Amino acid sequence: MYILLMGPPGAGKGTQAARLIGEYGIPHISTGDMFRAAVKEGTLLGLEAKRYMDAGQLVPDSVTIGIVKERLAKADCKSGFILDGFPRTLEQATALDSTLQELGIRLDRVINITAPSGELVRRMTGRRVCRKCGATYHVVFNPPAKDGQCDKCAGEVYQRDDDREETVAKRLNVYQVQTQPLIDYYRNQGLYTEIDGLQPIEKVFEDITGSLRGGRA
Ligand code: ADP
Ligand code: AMP
Repeated sequence: MYILLMGPPGAGKGTQAARLIGEYGIPHISTGDMFRAAVKEGTLLGLEAKRYMDAGQLVPDSVTIGIVKERLAKADCKSGFILDGFPRTLEQATALDSTLQELGIRLDRVINITAPSGELVRRMTGRRVCRKCGATYHVVFNPPAKDGQCDKCAGEVYQRDDDREETVAKRLNVYQVQTQPLIDYYRNQGLYTEIDGLQPIEKVFEDITGSLRGGRA
C-alpha cells in the first residue's frame, strides 16, 4: 500500500501515521522527522535544515527532494510506505511523480487530513514529543500518563522549537501559499480523499482505514 498523507501542520498526520504503520506494517517516511533526526545528529544537512525549520520556512526543494529520492529507493519501501509531510511544493510533487515512475510504483491513495486554523494552532502549541522515540502527545487532547514522560519509552517529552506560537503562524501561512495548491494537483489525479481531522483521533483513523479499504478512487 502506497499512501500519501497530506494536511496542514498540526492536522494529525504523524499521529495517524504511527497507527497506520501498526495496521499495515509499512515504513513511515516523514521528511520532518528526517530533518529533526539530522539536527539531532548535528550533520551538515541538519545544520542547514534547522535554519529553515526554526524560521517556519520550508527547507529548499533541492535538499528535500534529494533525501526523499534516496529514502524511497531503499528496500523496505518495496512493499509500500506512508509518506508524511512530502510533497509540500509543486516542484516536490512533480519530482515525486518521476521518482515513483522510475521505481515502478503507483500511489494507492492521497489522504488529506483537514482542520481549521484555530484548531491547528491549539494542536501545535500544545504538542509535545518524546526526545527518545518521537511519540507525539498533546498537553490537553492526548497527554502522557505521567507529566513530561513518554508512556512508551519513559523518555523526556518536550516542545519542538518550531511549535512556539510565533513560528506556528508562519508555518500556517507557508502551508496556505506553497502546499495547499497541491490539493488540486492530486484531486485531478483521482486518488484524493479528504478526512475530517477535527474528529477524535480514533474516528480519524477509522475514516482513513475505511477509505484505504475502498481501494483506488
Ligand atoms: P502533524 O503531523 O500533522 O503536524 P500531529 O500528528 O503531530 O500533526 O498532531 C498535532 C498535535 O495534535 C499533537 O499534539 C497530537 O497529539 C494532536 N492531535 C492529533 N490528532 C488529533 C485529534 N484528532 N484530536 C485532537 N488532537 C489531535
Ligand atoms: P513537520 O514535522 O512535517 O511539521 O515539518 C517540520 C519542518 O521541517 C517544516 O516546517 C519544514 O521546515 C521542514 N520540512 C518538512 N518537510 C518538508 C518538505 N517536504 N519540504 C520542505 N521542508 C520540509
